[in-house]
Amino acid sequence: MRVCVVGSGGREHALAVALGRTAEVVVTPGNPGIPGSVATPPTEIDADLFVIGPEVPLVDGLADRLRAQGKLVFGPGADGARLEGSKAWMKQVLVDAGVPTARYGDFTEAEPALSFLETLPGLYVVKTDGLAAGKGVVVTESLPEAREVVADFLSGQAFGDAGRRVVIEEGLTGPELSVLAVCDGRRALALAPAQDFKRVGDGDEGPNTGGMGAYSPVPLAGDDVMAMVMDRAVDPTLAALRNQGIDYRGVLYAGLMLTPDGPKIIEYNVRFGDPETQVVAPRLSSDLADLLARAASGSLGDAAPSFVDDAAVTVVCAAEGYPRSPRLGDPIEGLELAARVEGVTVFCAGVARAADAPEGSPLLTAGGRVLDITAMGPDLATARSRAYQAVACVSWPGLHVRSDIAAAAAHEQSHPRKGERP
Ligand code: AMP
Repeated sequence: MRVCVVGSGGREHALAVALGRTAEVVVTPGNPGIPGSVATPPTEIDADLFVIGPEVPLVDGLADRLRAQGKLVFGPGADGARLEGSKAWMKQVLVDAGVPTARYGDFTEAEPALSFLETLPGLYVVKTDGLAAGKGVVVTESLPEAREVVADFLSGQAFGDAGRRVVIEEGLTGPELSVLAVCDGRRALALAPAQDFKRVGDGDEGPNTGGMGAYSPVPLAGDDVMAMVMDRAVDPTLAALRNQGIDYRGVLYAGLMLTPDGPKIIEYNVRFGDPETQVVAPRLSSDLADLLARAASGSLGDAAPSFVDDAAVTVVCAAEGYPRSPRLGDPIEGLELAARVEGVTVFCAGVARAADAPEGSPLLTAGGRVLDITAMGPDLATARSRAYQAVACVSWPGLHVRSDIAAAAAHEQSHPRKGERP
């Protein structure tokens, strides 16, 4: 099978590696760190299966355009991708389907928005309705700050049109969990759970980012939690989409918070998570190309993805200034050394090569999230220590990472609380 992966980041690199175990893979546009990258647009590529990575082309209807050409596509059409393209619509789908989620309101005018804020109990969440690369969410305990953010978003100053409608939610508390489910329009199969780290700084300090790291498995997310997530959230959502005439074939990614009142959905994404894919795909022991082709053709049948017991940890190496304004164009040193650390794969995200530079010359930083360093190991502690050993091998001016990726989970896995499974 020949598979075309659409996208250019670390997620697409990880998908290409996992798909490449059983299929021939081409990535468009990819980047100079991803083997098989081509500049040809997807509509001009001949492949048996198209896997669309990022949300923007999905929301823009790329899956529809490819399907109209008779191609087999893994990724929802623009109708289903609206789940991610409009948070207000997503919340309405959740409420209609009876899926547990935070209380919310959505607004285009400041006055009712500010009045709604006053009714919330003290942790305020303000989100842009539209896409904002994972950065259009502010969680704050300060009512004045929340008011300011609402004004900023609605004015269009912060995120342009994406912010002219806002969703305001009550703040939830609890550990977060990402569940990626592969859907064929009727059925959803969960992949191994992962946890990501959204804030830029250690201890969840600082602004939200696209994600600074991830790990899998998640000690907190046993079979009981996963069954609850599928029964109470993912399956009813897929059924609700179907009732609206939406044939959803792609990843339904549930971002959850495990609150004291049970799991609640924070958001849905309509594609593989980035950086969750960088820890989930390497743990997959069954055939990814076959799984996605079956989902894309509407017949998952008896497919059952399987995973190795080994753990995976990804640490994102970011450019100076990320997430605000990353500094670009610095040469990346030490890539080969990092890749030689046991269990490590380096996925290239925001990298480029100067137009006139010869093949083999050093890659340059070309995005906020530059490298995703993933390590496998028999447990989270080993995977984590290998990942940071590899991180220490790479350098460019201003490189920054979080130093606490998977730290708490590694501790929990090696010191399970009484009555819990290791
Ligand atoms: P989202 O893009 O909606 O996933 O939000 C990004 C991050 O903001 C989430 O991963 C959470 O850390 C945080 N967040 C979003 N919604 C809430 C909420 N209702 N309560 C607390 N934190 C939230």
